[in-house]
Amino acid sequence: MLLTISTTYQPATDLGYLLHKNPARLQSLEVAGGQAHIFYPEATAERCTAALLLDLDPISLVRGRAGASGEGFALEQYVNDRPYVASSFLSAALSKAFGTAMNGTCKDKPDLPAQVLPLAIKVAVVSAPGPDWPRRLFEPLGYEVEIETTPLDPTVPEWGDSPYYTLHLRHAGLRLQDVLTHLYVLLPVLDNDKHYYIGEYEAEKLLHRGGDWLPQHPERGFITRRYLRYLAAYVNPTLERLMQGEDRSVDSASPRMEDGESGSVETVQPQVAEPNDAMRGLAESTLQPKLSLHDQRLQQVAHEIYQLSPKRVLDLGCGEGKLLRLLLRQPKIEYILGMDVSHQALARAASRLHLDEMPPRQRTRLDLIQGSLLYRDERLAGFDAAALVEVIEHLDPNRLAALEAVVFGQARPAHVFVTTPNADYNQLFEKLNAGEFRHDDHRFEWSRAEFAAWATAVAERHRYQVRLVGMGEEVAGVGAPSQMAVFNLEQS
Ligand code: SAH
Repeated sequence: MLLTISTTYQPATDLGYLLHKNPARLQSLEVAGGQAHIFYPEATAERCTAALLLDLDPISLVRGRAGASGEGFALEQYVNDRPYVASSFLSAALSKAFGTAMNGTCKDKPDLPAQVLPLAIKVAVVSAPGPDWPRRLFEPLGYEVEIETTPLDPTVPEWGDSPYYTLHLRHAGLRLQDVLTHLYVLLPVLDNDKHYYIGEYEAEKLLHRGGDWLPQHPERGFITRRYLRYLAAYVNPTLERLMQGEDRSVDSASPRMEDGESGSVETVQPQVAEPNDAMRGLAESTLQPKLSLHDQRLQQVAHEIYQLSPKRVLDLGCGEGKLLRLLLRQPKIEYILGMDVSHQALARAASRLHLDEMPPRQRTRLDLIQGSLLYRDERLAGFDAAALVEVIEHLDPNRLAALEAVVFGQARPAHVFVTTPNADYNQLFEKLNAGEFRHDDHRFEWSRAEFAAWATAVAERHRYQVRLVGMGEEVAGVGAPSQMAVFNLEQS
């Protein structure tokens, strides 16, 4: 798909400064789903045109796709309009290629972004559900809108026009920043296809990019609904916030986490999409950098532990020692004990943490021991906090009473953090069939209600207070991917 932006502002080549792209050079960059090429078909003092050619790779789209096999005809996943139609992929490419311009900054000519310019934009092609849609969206913003239709087949006139249009927009005077922002928000609204979003983050982008103009737009309700079309729960709150003029920065709201190291506990990566949809279409979310659920979980646990300023911390079922590493970074923790039943896991932990080469002072802060959570163990007494991250679901349910007796009955740390998958969320994992677990070794996965029932009963039996927390991004109706129970020993 091709987007061009032309101006007759003098000197027209200022467009190059505004876009931070030199008119003399062809530039290419990797974007979600493929490559973007930026070049200038014309660049004179009188008239300058910048072009963004988005070359999506249909194969990579299929690979990144929330599995649509079995739907439509066999080749549909390869032969479809996605590589050619302006969609959220174009928005993502616009923001990557012209992000600086979209934010209204220009290093070389700082006053230029505030300048209004005569601009003409061409987008080939859009697949709006009706030809009046582009007018509804762009005319209230002052654009002249023209739609260029094409016959499906010029030799067979009775077939009529193709449902794909070339869109022409003209504006007598607007800041380039505004045009880019309008396109960024409105092109996915126009797109006919299903489109998935990561969640609240999308609402934040809309607030950020639409904050200035969307509240006055007569179609703001329609735009917000279409933009967030699979996130019904966000629509009204987002509209309310828009009307109140709230604009939170996207960057600060971004839920990005560092990607984890290999060997993550989960075998299935989350495809965060909408719960009730048949998961067709391309998931934008799958093209975003993957958010490692497990790392997010570990960071959250480490953070919660840190808030309590404990001196002695247990990591029960410590596995390869990812949490241990985060805990070691907290200097106020004096001593950490990692325990696991698996000798192999402990050996990996020792090597990943470079136990051999640790400076002596640091080395005295950590011990790794082999042991089972099902048997009473004196070594676990006298700790301020204990973590059991994704451990309980590895035990047969009938062994949980033994674990409960060991952790809550005998070791009795002041604070216990237990995390486990939220089974309610599993329907969003594309590769998981109903009733399957996220990992081969999981003996059960609990819904939020089941986990809450267990945690409450344990707390009552052992005089702890318990608080339940969702871990990861909440999705309306199914909750967050993981769940955590935080137990605090009641003061006696
Ligand atoms: N907490 C780690 C590892 C989770 S995987 C992390 O979040 O990365 C579950 C771990 O529990 C495995 O390392 C497994 O060996 C350990 N485990 C399973 N049963 C156990 C038991 N009875 N006692 C102690 N550890 C156990």
